[in-house]
Amino acid sequence: MTPGADFILTGAGELVTLDPALGEGPLGVIRGGALAAVEGKIVWVGKTSQVHKAVGLHGDGRELDAQGRVVMPGFVDSHTHCIFAGSREKEFAQRIAGATYQEIAAAGGGILSTVEATRDATTDELVAFATRRLDLVLQHGTTTLEAKSGYGLTTADEVKILEAIRLLQDPHPVEVHATFCGAHEVPPEFRGNTGGYVDLVVDEMIPAVGQRRLAEYCDVFCEQGVFSVEQSRRILRAGLEHGLQPKLHADEFSATGGAELAAEVGALSADHLLHARPEGIRAMREAGVTATLLPGTAFFLGLPYAPARAFLDAGVRVALATDFNPGSSYTPNMQLIVTLACTQMRMTVEEAIQAATLNGAYALGLQAQVGALAPDRWCDLIVLDVPSYYHVPYLYGVNHVRSVVKAGQLVWPRE
Ligand SMILES: [Zn+2]
Repeated sequence: MTPGADFILTGAGELVTLDPALGEGPLGVIRGGALAAVEGKIVWVGKTSQVHKAVGLHGDGRELDAQGRVVMPGFVDSHTHCIFAGSREKEFAQRIAGATYQEIAAAGGGILSTVEATRDATTDELVAFATRRLDLVLQHGTTTLEAKSGYGLTTADEVKILEAIRLLQDPHPVEVHATFCGAHEVPPEFRGNTGGYVDLVVDEMIPAVGQRRLAEYCDVFCEQGVFSVEQSRRILRAGLEHGLQPKLHADEFSATGGAELAAEVGALSADHLLHARPEGIRAMREAGVTATLLPGTAFFLGLPYAPARAFLDAGVRVALATDFNPGSSYTPNMQLIVTLACTQMRMTVEEAIQAATLNGAYALGLQAQVGALAPDRWCDLIVLDVPSYYHVPYLYGVNHVRSVVKAGQLVWPRE
């Protein structure tokens, strides 16, 4: 017997481990499943009927009975822009009434309105706004989240956003990983001088972020009319020199060669990918780049969806994320993203659940730590009030999360 577990979960109608070696099917499902954790990490996974023979519970340890519900890893949301000030509900209404992007921008809307509000906000204000959003993230079952800068677009404001993320990392139960995304847009003061802005990103912002280790990743919006493949390559290489792992907004509105660039620089992920070319898809598979698809953005903007099957059938690992941001996808809810992936992108339920958990972890290089319920990983799990995991996408538009455990601690509902 392994003594001294400080957390034991029993009574999972389905324990969806995401490790096929531990249970049935591609998701490794254990009926009547249980697990145990020590100091936040899983030490044992098996059947409820076996757990008390295999593992002793520490004196002040906690046992949680799932009472027949589905238990799965917490969602890993690997692409968000959820640290910002202001909101854009008027623009939402204008868009529905038929306004074009240009008309919205001329009326003071669009991404630059978020940049303006974020520049005006203090670090403490950004932390306060983001805390409310992270509470929603947690309540909807996400335990690990990536958050990008990119609404500051000056060195001081980009650093301010990343400092706000650092201040959120400790107190909030959601595990937040920071991405420097200073090349998210060309700021108004550099209009017509994108090259000058790229110089600022490479010569000043990236060294400032790297020296203070304010981010783990570097991301670029590689798109026609924004940052070219050559400019994106220069920024991502500069990031690598300062310890930032590359990620990329690629081929969202046109086939620019972003998928090929992601493969060339060894990016963890290329994201959006509506217009990736077949040679880009092949290059991603060969380089092991994860394709992160964001169906919430297509849904919210009323645009076509990414060709998920083209990636899956080519053998590319596919992850799903919310793209949580105030303009094009204002949702913290990964359950809804799983539904959209199934109904709009023809992903199977199993593919979509894997994409929203373990493959999200791959997109962040965290696949050995989170995204599966297996020994040596963090005990990050959610208890869902459904009789089988098929109900996660099937009964849609509602929140199925009953409780959330992060590193072996019950963090939702709060006690
Ligand atoms: Zn994005």
